[in-house]
Amino acid sequence: MFYCSDAIFDPKLSIRMNRITRLTVSSSLILLSLPLLNSCKNNTDLKSDSDQGSTDQLKEVTSDAHSFSNPQDVSIQHMHLDLAVDFEKRVLKGSVRLDLDRKTKVNVLHLDSRQLQIEKILLDDGTEAQFLLSEDVEYFGQDLAINLKKKTKSVTVFYETSPSAEALQWLKPEQTAGGKHPYLFSQSQAILARTWIPCQDSPGVKFTYSASIKTLPDLIALMSAENGQKKTKDGVYAFTMNQPISSYLLALTVGDLEYEQLGRNCGVYAEPSMLKKCVWEFQDMQSMIDSAEALYGKYAWGQYDVVVLPPSFPFGGMENPRLTFATPTIIAGDRSLVALIAHELAHSWSGNLVTNETWDDFWLNEGFTVYFEQRIMEKIFGKPYEEMQTKLGMGELKHTIERLTRENKVDDTHLYLALTGRNPDDGLTDIAYEKGRFFLQTIEYAVGREKFDVFLKQYFSENAFKSMNTAKFEAYLDEHLLKGDSNLYAKIQPKEWIYGPGLPSSAPNPESEELKKVEVEILKFMNGDHADQLITENWTTHHWLYFLRGLKDKLDVNQVAELDNVFDLTNSGNNEILCDWFQHCIAVEYEPAYQNMESFLTSVGRRKFLSPLYEALVKTEEGKEWGTRVYEIAKPGYHAVSSNSIEEILGL
Ligand SMILES: [Zn+2]
Repeated sequence: MFYCSDAIFDPKLSIRMNRITRLTVSSSLILLSLPLLNSCKNNTDLKSDSDQGSTDQLKEVTSDAHSFSNPQDVSIQHMHLDLAVDFEKRVLKGSVRLDLDRKTKVNVLHLDSRQLQIEKILLDDGTEAQFLLSEDVEYFGQDLAINLKKKTKSVTVFYETSPSAEALQWLKPEQTAGGKHPYLFSQSQAILARTWIPCQDSPGVKFTYSASIKTLPDLIALMSAENGQKKTKDGVYAFTMNQPISSYLLALTVGDLEYEQLGRNCGVYAEPSMLKKCVWEFQDMQSMIDSAEALYGKYAWGQYDVVVLPPSFPFGGMENPRLTFATPTIIAGDRSLVALIAHELAHSWSGNLVTNETWDDFWLNEGFTVYFEQRIMEKIFGKPYEEMQTKLGMGELKHTIERLTRENKVDDTHLYLALTGRNPDDGLTDIAYEKGRFFLQTIEYAVGREKFDVFLKQYFSENAFKSMNTAKFEAYLDEHLLKGDSNLYAKIQPKEWIYGPGLPSSAPNPESEELKKVEVEILKFMNGDHADQLITENWTTHHWLYFLRGLKDKLDVNQVAELDNVFDLTNSGNNEILCDWFQHCIAVEYEPAYQNMESFLTSVGRRKFLSPLYEALVKTEEGKEWGTRVYEIAKPGYHAVSSNSIEEILGL
C-alpha cells in the first residue's frame, strides 16, 4: 500500500468512515496508480494547501452519515456528463465534469464512488489531479479524494461503470415488451447514484446538470431533464436540467420508446406495443397536475412526463424530475392503480423541491407525498375513493408496526430514523410513507384543512430547492402554524409521532363506507355462505384488497379453492390483487396457483410484490425450497434493489 503524503489525508474521512462502518474499517487509503505517486512527488504545494484548520472543521462534518463527501468545504454546483452506453459490455464509459463551489480553504474534494473504474482526473488547468480511493465499505463504496489547487473551479473524472453497477439494470431484448432491442434503466435512490457517477451522493447537496449520451441509433435515451421526444439519427442525445436537484434524482433510461402527448405539459413514453394502453390508463394526468397546482402552488419543472419501464423495475415509480419512471404493473386496464402517478407527481413538490436532508429525514419526503397524493385523488376521484385508500393505508401501517416490533426493530417505527452505519434502504418502509401521512392528517384535523393548506403552500414556496431536516421542520411548524399553542400540541402530539414508537393516541381512525360493505361480505363468507352468494358487483381493486386482507390467516384450502373457482383470482390481470391472493395460496399450499405464481415471480421485479410472497414461502421448508428454485430462475430479471432484499429473506 502506497501512501502519498499527509496532504490528501483528511482526518474527517476517518470520522465519516467510522460512522459508516461502526468503527470496523481502517481509515487507511489505497494509492491507485504509479503516475499518481509521481505527480504527488512533483507537486510541492499540496501539503501547505490542504486541510487547513481541519480540527475546527471536524465539528462541522456533513450531517449525512451515508456520504463520504464534504459539501461544507466544497460542493458540486453543476455536473456535465458525457457518457457512451455499451450494451455489449454492460457499461457506461466517459467522463463527468464537476463545477465546484469552494466554500473553505480545504483543498480536497471528497466524492462517493462505488464499483467505478477511475481512469484519470483532470483539473480545469489541464493538469492531472492526484487522487486516492479508500477501501471499499459494504453498501457505501469508496471515498474518492481528489486534491485541488487553490484556484481549481472544476474537475473532470474519466471513468467506466462496472457491469454489476447496482443502479443500472441491463435487459436483454427478450426481457422487454417488444423483444427486439436491449434496454437500460437506472435507479439512483437511495445511495446508488455513486455506482454510475462519481458525485457527492447526499440528498442535501443540490446541483444543476447537463449531459450528452451516446447510444445505439435504434434507441432513444431519456434523462431526468429536458428530453427530446423523438429518436435522433446518430444516437446522440443532449440534456439539460437547469433546476438544482439531488444526486438520487439523476436518472437515465435507454430503449425502444415512443412518446405521446397527454395534455398541455405532460405525456408518456413507452415501448411501441404498450403505448396505447398507457395513454388510456393515464388519461387523468393533466387534471392531476392541475389539481396539484391548485393545492400547493405552481409546478416548478416545466414538463411532466412518465416513462413506463419493463416489468423488472424494482419500485412502483421513481419521481425522477420531469420524467417519472413507472412500473408497467400499474397498467391494470381499469385506471384503478393510477394513484401511483399522483404519488410520483406529488414528489415534484415534496422531495424534488423540498428535499430530505439525510436519509434519517426520509419521512419528510414520503409522508408529505402520500398525504399530497391522497388530496389529489380525493379531488379527482371523490371522497369514497380516497377513504378506501386511506383505510387500506392504515391497515398496511399497522401491519408494518407489528412486524417491526416483533423483529425487535421498534426504533424503526419512529418517523425520525437512526440509519447511521446501515443501508438507507432499511428506512424504505410504511413508516416513512404511511405514518408520515397520518401525522400530517392529524395536524390537518387539529388546525382545519384551510389553515393547513395555507401552511403547506407557504412551506413549499419558502423552502423550494432547499433541503429540510426533521428539527428544522418542527421549528417551521411551530413558527408558522402551532405557534406554541399547548392545546394544539396536546391534540397533535408531534414529539410522539416523530420520536416515539408505533402510533400515538392522537392517530386518526379512518373509516370507509365502501369498505364496510366488504366487511359484511367477509362475515358472510366466514359464516358459511358460499362464494357465489357474495355481493361483489362493481368492486374495484381496493374492495378486493380489503376483502383478501380481511380473510388473512382465516381460510382453509377448500375455501381458497372455492374463491378461486368463483372469482378466478389466480388468473387476475391485476398485480396488486395477485400479490394478496398468492399469499393465501401459499398459506394453505393451494397447488393450482403455483404455476401462475411462478410466472408472476419470474416476470415482475417490483419489490413490494416480491417481498411478501418470498416471506410467506420461507415459513415452511418446502416453500423455502420452491421459492429458492424460482428465485434462481428469476434473479437475472430482478434489479439489485430487489434481489438484495429477496436474498436476505431466503438467507442466501
Ligand atoms: Zn414516494
